[in-house]
Amino acid sequence: MATVAEPTATMDQISIHPPKRLLYGPGPGQVHPRVYQAMAQPIVGHLDAYFFQISNEIQQLLRKVFGTKNEMTFLISATGSGGMETAISNFVSPGTKVASFGNGFFCDRQAEMARRHGGNVVRLEKPWGEVFSDEEAADFIRLEKPQVVTYVQAETSSGAFQKGEAICNAAHEVGALVIADCVTSLGAMPVEIDKTGIDIAYSCSQKGLSCPPGLSPLTVSPRALEHLKTRTNPNRSWYFDISLIADYLVQSHRYHHTASATMFYALREGLALIEEEGLENRWERHHKAHLEFVKKVEALGLEMLVPNPANRIWNLNTPKVPQGVDDAKVRATLLKENGIEIAGGFGPLAGKVFRVGLMGPLATSESVHHFMHCFESALRGAGYKG
Ligand SMILES: *Cc1c(COP(=O)(O)O)cnc(C)c1O
Repeated sequence: MATVAEPTATMDQISIHPPKRLLYGPGPGQVHPRVYQAMAQPIVGHLDAYFFQISNEIQQLLRKVFGTKNEMTFLISATGSGGMETAISNFVSPGTKVASFGNGFFCDRQAEMARRHGGNVVRLEKPWGEVFSDEEAADFIRLEKPQVVTYVQAETSSGAFQKGEAICNAAHEVGALVIADCVTSLGAMPVEIDKTGIDIAYSCSQKGLSCPPGLSPLTVSPRALEHLKTRTNPNRSWYFDISLIADYLVQSHRYHHTASATMFYALREGLALIEEEGLENRWERHHKAHLEFVKKVEALGLEMLVPNPANRIWNLNTPKVPQGVDDAKVRATLLKENGIEIAGGFGPLAGKVFRVGLMGPLATSESVHHFMHCFESALRGAGYKG
């Protein structure tokens, strides 16, 4: 009788030995041990009934986390940028007028993708770290009368959280669809797709959802789907065509691409962890860790980049680098001495902010305490006297 070898390798037989890191950066965040366990399970084929069972469970759990009733809520086999390209490429075609809110690095990426797909992009820009008021947002949209509006809910480059109700209301008034980037916020903060009025949203697996990178949750409203039906020219991207992906994952289960069972297991387990904790408890835990961090970092004499506490992302903090301190030196010390990864700023914020993620397993009091202990010592080592 034929036998099938079961995987029996033990940890010490594996040929790679990655260094132990504490991921306090803007993503990827720390992964829960149960997610790693899930990833070590044997794969099934991408058309296996078990694969679709997992995929369906993910869709149901994702609807809760997104705060939506959208039937079209599923995973794109790509990172957050792939989710962004899915959203843009399906709803922006040559000549589409796109109003893009720009207050950070990822807003710029949305605008660049919209241009590449032939969109006629108009922008309203603000310095990184600031957000758009309800009035500014509505005035811009009423003036420009676009067909598509793009904004970033949690701008990971600056630490600013952009509220979306006024954007969505004004967009709907002029008949436009709203694409929102919820890459960092999903799973850590309320994203509230339906309540806000967002038509298309995408995220990623490695930030607020605390899984490894590789998947992008996407949700599309019935209103947006109606729009898609009236599109006369096919999406220039075949891989990111929502109709084809939905046919594979939601409708006929016909082959489109070979989705990674391993990554689906990971996300399914990550979402189970959220379900067990309770979504609102999880938000509250991230909020508390954020407030504790801000209190401690201010007590140390540092200032937060985003001035208004109500506009700060909970799971990604951006304290300013104090005068005379080399941020690269602080980051290098944290990595070398404590195995702690954080990030610096880039673009206009290069050398000006630290980007500290408190996500998933690291969004706790003990974790903030441990981080601040190491951070203070690294700052002092870099000459900080405050
Ligand atoms: C990380 C990030 C992205 C891009 O996601 P990748 O997984 O790196 O492709 C897009 N938008 C925001 C706001 C992000 O933080």
